Amino acid sequence: MTAVADDELELVRGTARQIAQRCAKAGHDADAHVTCWQALVEAGLTELREGEPDNTPAAPAAMAAAVVEELARVVCGAPLLGHLLAAELARLGGVVLPAGEAWTVALDDTWSRLGNAVGWDAARATVALALDGAGTGGVSVVTVGDRDVTADPTRRIATCAGPTGQGAEAGIDTIAAFHAFARTLVAADAVGAAAGVLDAALGYVQERVQFGVPVGSFQAVQHLLAEAFVRLEAARSSLTFATRALDATPLDPAAATRTSLVVKGWTGDAVVDVVEAAVQAFGGIAITWEHPAHRHLRRVLVDRQSLGAPATVDPLLLDATPLDAGSTDAGSPGAGSPDATEGVTADDTELARFRRDLRRWLREHGIERREDEEHARFLQRWHQELAAGGWVGLSWPQEYGGHGLSGVYEVVVNEEIGRAGAPDAPRVGYMGRALLTWGSEQQRTRYLPGLLRGDDYWCQGFSEPGAGSDLANISTRAVRDGDRYVISGQKVWTSYGEFADFCLLLARTSSAAGQPKHKGISAFVLPMDSPGVEVRPIRAITGHSEFCEIFLDDVELGAEQRIGAEGDGWPIAMMTVSYERGAADVGYLSKFGAALGELRRLVGKRADEPTVRLELGRLTRLYTLLGQHVERRLEDRQRTQAVPGPEMSVDKVLMTLVDQSLHAGALRLLGPGALAGGDRGEWLERYFYSRAASIYGGSQQIQLNIIAQRLLGLPH
Ligand SMILES: Cc1cc2nc3c(=O)[nH]c(=O)nc-3n(C[C@H](O)[C@H](O)[C@H](O)COP(=O)(O)OP(=O)(O)OC[C@H]3O[C@@H](n4cnc5c(N)ncnc54)[C@H](O)[C@@H]3O)c2cc1C
Repeated sequence: MTAVADDELELVRGTARQIAQRCAKAGHDADAHVTCWQALVEAGLTELREGEPDNTPAAPAAMAAAVVEELARVVCGAPLLGHLLAAELARLGGVVLPAGEAWTVALDDTWSRLGNAVGWDAARATVALALDGAGTGGVSVVTVGDRDVTADPTRRIATCAGPTGQGAEAGIDTIAAFHAFARTLVAADAVGAAAGVLDAALGYVQERVQFGVPVGSFQAVQHLLAEAFVRLEAARSSLTFATRALDATPLDPAAATRTSLVVKGWTGDAVVDVVEAAVQAFGGIAITWEHPAHRHLRRVLVDRQSLGAPATVDPLLLDATPLDAGSTDAGSPGAGSPDATEGVTADDTELARFRRDLRRWLREHGIERREDEEHARFLQRWHQELAAGGWVGLSWPQEYGGHGLSGVYEVVVNEEIGRAGAPDAPRVGYMGRALLTWGSEQQRTRYLPGLLRGDDYWCQGFSEPGAGSDLANISTRAVRDGDRYVISGQKVWTSYGEFADFCLLLARTSSAAGQPKHKGISAFVLPMDSPGVEVRPIRAITGHSEFCEIFLDDVELGAEQRIGAEGDGWPIAMMTVSYERGAADVGYLSKFGAALGELRRLVGKRADEPTVRLELGRLTRLYTLLGQHVERRLEDRQRTQAVPGPEMSVDKVLMTLVDQSLHAGALRLLGPGALAGGDRGEWLERYFYSRAASIYGGSQQIQLNIIAQRLLGLPH
């Protein structure tokens, strides 16, 4: 892979930002782009994709995307995008373009693909590269005729006036590689345009006062902008993978195509949503011509259409992810669920080998649920098998039974388990991390190996009847008596409490007057067979007992069962829920991957119907996007060695979106089959359980509060 040095990328990004800032000051009159263009030429930024003597591009795609993104933050009118696309196509196809001119590409009449109908982003171009009509991949140079504006006045279109006689047989593969690059750069443009206006809106809502307070204090405004931020963060993750695939050496055309379709499909609607949210946050001022918000909206509307709207690219993504993809059996339920890393990290031989070995292992180690076996016990047996095979605790320290590898391996395990249609990956991550960080050496060596091996089942005893979202309100008490604690109280909604060997328990150890509620809480390891513990299963919305009430009546625990110091319970709880909000830490990527593959298999012959293709393509995109986001997060965590914090709320909101979209989509796709019981009735249960995704681990509204206040800095 061609690594783009971070400092080099930041340097070029900084240059583009300076040009963009000058552009913003110059206003948006018709000729503003002239000076910007000149500045881009002088900085060498128009040459980023021209070929070196060995025909490699002068700069990586990640750099070109960064420059495009920076200029789009101010909706700069310089037609750099069209020019870079033409340079890319000329380089790939061996076409020589006149030096010192601005070029562009011609698209078809829907602006979805390279074509010969309209010159695109043509404010300055004198020639455009167009596709010959024969569909063989022949590219010709045409002159650009009359120009017209689009909804975005900075993005002109032009007639293709006629061939110059130049051109080349570029070939179908070259056109495909070009499309991957073009979709990615248009997506970068949309991300920049949305980020620029969202930042402005965040500044505005902190200054604009109504009802005596900044409008950014209102929860409705906070949630609007927090949701927009999540959409933009996901777009950034997807863009990272799309440029990485383009910069991979050797290029894997399938991975470049797939990642470009994901980022284009996602930015299409999500980024328009972001700008619409910003317009709403500005109020009436955004509806004026003078205010810049509409320019951003115009830009992203044109970007959504250009190089393929979601309805165009989602079915293409489905085609790029064949049901018999990979080396798993085509008939296995999850075969065909995509992955975020394959092909993108092609040169990472260790990771590629790991993936291959795991695939082989999964083929050879199927598991069947025994008749009358509880689902939780079945999952535990699967966990034990996986652990024995060496596939659990990849990113955990070796001394406690882990493998000491990077978090990216956890993503690969999730993806491959999902792809094989195997049962969910184990949910060890979130439960054990607090013990790893806060536990004594004795506690770590006693509990972590059993947790990772799947021998010990753990549950989380946090919520109580009077303490849900307001977790600090717990009233279960742990009273110190010499070298032991006596604990009494009640827990509720404790997942799998009836199967658990141990509970990570929160209890109040102090309620001194004037002390903030969250200060007097401590965390304990509670053996579930302790005298005084009573577990009562609750029948859930699915019809099964997913969670329990736990009654604690004078339960005695030795002081050595306390985790950390007395009063450390709150940060321990917050760390636990932060990990719980990551899809790889709870094994949800594997669960969604398997579900998606199974769904594709179930629709069978109907897979060719346009509406079915559209829905399956959309769900494939959402699932892949989540994988990309999770992997980006784990890479960051690996690099900074930071423990997860409020940023995990972004992951939780995304995970919820994918979970609920996938299962609501399944009901639409399966129709009466999912409602009439029988084989497919299980999908109805899964749909019901997906409704819990926006409640457990901290509700959707709580996540949006955290994002707004702790990530975006809006007032408490
Ligand atoms: C399937 C499932 C499994 C669970 N597993 C566990 C487990 O293993 N261990 C455990 O300890 N707990 C578990 N829980 C409990 C879960 O953490 C709580 O349900 C959750 O924190 C919400 O609390 P609550 O149900 O009391 O809702 P409430 O806090 O009463 O909230 C009700 C509504 O009000 C909204 N709301 C509350 N406060 C605010 C606010 N400040 N701003 C905006 N809106 C707000 C909420 O979003 C929600 O829509 C589980 C829950 C479910 C559904």
